[in-house]
Amino acid sequence: MLVCGASFAGLAVARELAGSGADVLLVDRYEIGERQTSACGIPTGWLEALELQGSLQQTFGELVLHTPYTTARYRLPWTFSTFDYRVLCELLWDQVPPGQFKFETAKVDGRTGRVVHTDRGDIRAGVVVDALGWRRVLGAGLNIQPPDALLSRGLEVHPHGSGSEMEIWIDRSYVPAGYGWSFPAGGEVRIGVGSFDPRFHVREPTERLASELDAPAVRYQGNWIPHALRNATEDGVFFVGDSAGHCLPLTAEGIRTALYFGLAVGRELSEVLGGRRSMADALSSYSRFSASHARAFAWMLRCQRAVPRVAPRLLAGALRAMEARRFLDWAFGHYLEIAHPRFVAAGPRRTPLQVRVPA
Ligand SMILES: Cc1cc2nc3c(=O)[nH]c(=O)nc-3n(C[C@H](O)[C@H](O)[C@H](O)COP(=O)(O)OP(=O)(O)OC[C@H]3O[C@@H](n4cnc5c(N)ncnc54)[C@H](O)[C@@H]3O)c2cc1C
Repeated sequence: MLVCGASFAGLAVARELAGSGADVLLVDRYEIGERQTSACGIPTGWLEALELQGSLQQTFGELVLHTPYTTARYRLPWTFSTFDYRVLCELLWDQVPPGQFKFETAKVDGRTGRVVHTDRGDIRAGVVVDALGWRRVLGAGLNIQPPDALLSRGLEVHPHGSGSEMEIWIDRSYVPAGYGWSFPAGGEVRIGVGSFDPRFHVREPTERLASELDAPAVRYQGNWIPHALRNATEDGVFFVGDSAGHCLPLTAEGIRTALYFGLAVGRELSEVLGGRRSMADALSSYSRFSASHARAFAWMLRCQRAVPRVAPRLLAGALRAMEARRFLDWAFGHYLEIAHPRFVAAGPRRTPLQVRVPA
């Protein structure tokens, strides 16, 4: 089996296949955990369920929303945490017993049938998983290209510093459709701006937000973010995480969904290895599973499109009204249900977690 991409989605697939008897090669153009791809905020329950608390940096029970006319404070029914990307990736990879699967660095260029082309040669595999992110490198036809695709764009800076609040700015002076954020994470703060319109450039507003927070704009990190669900299988290939459009619209939360759907792919493939399911059945079962979330994703996309159209004063009033405890419990409860951490325990765990002991 060839899993292309060793970030959240690819590592979740590998973790779930550990102990299944699968022969897995994982490839990524960078070493595991080398390139951070996000602000690394996630519902804390996901870190706990996957036993990744060792990567946790800061936990927040409240979300602070700023608009030009008000500041709303949402007491969350569950907490959100920031984590260290490198540590989280290493901890996930450590859940594969040493030597069981192989990892190689290679840049994946494309695919012909079951042959994946990389800058280090071709790899033929019976099963191919594309966990390479938004570009959908192994899809049939041309790769996804901005700015015409259904993509958002995000950029952030990572100055050293500290803070105690997880903050969001919905303010058209930064971005007409999108939001700014500040996520403290131990010794640094991740400050950024995301635009739902891929044509809107976010560098200047990111630097302005950082400057207004008295933080230097240093250590940039940015990427495109899909905001529409795509087919989760195509041409016999499994797509997972951003390559399948699994990032949630509106919030651009794509880590827990990459983990969630990664576990789902791992489980389907385990069924095939165990002789309980044919490959064709696994492909259609996973495809149906992903598509069964279409309503939730469509609802989030409707909100993503509606919020920028609401007049700022009206939006301020609405955000304040939503501070009511019962509403927050209901809304954030439903939001978490889209990819709930209890999904981790729902799967078979064939081997006890093993921690790699450094040589
Ligand atoms: C600025 C920003 C901030 C964000 N903040 C958050 C956040 O706080 N919380 C959250 O939930 N989501 C956040 N997101 C979204 C989140 O980062 C993605 O949804 C998530 O990373 C998707 O995980 P993935 O494993 O599918 O893809 P990725 O994390 O993008 O991983 C893809 C992997 O494939 C590798 N790769 C790519 N192309 C090739 C190639 N051709 N050959 C070989 N290897 C390749 C990459 O090196 C990488 O390791 C943010 C996004 C951005 C841009």
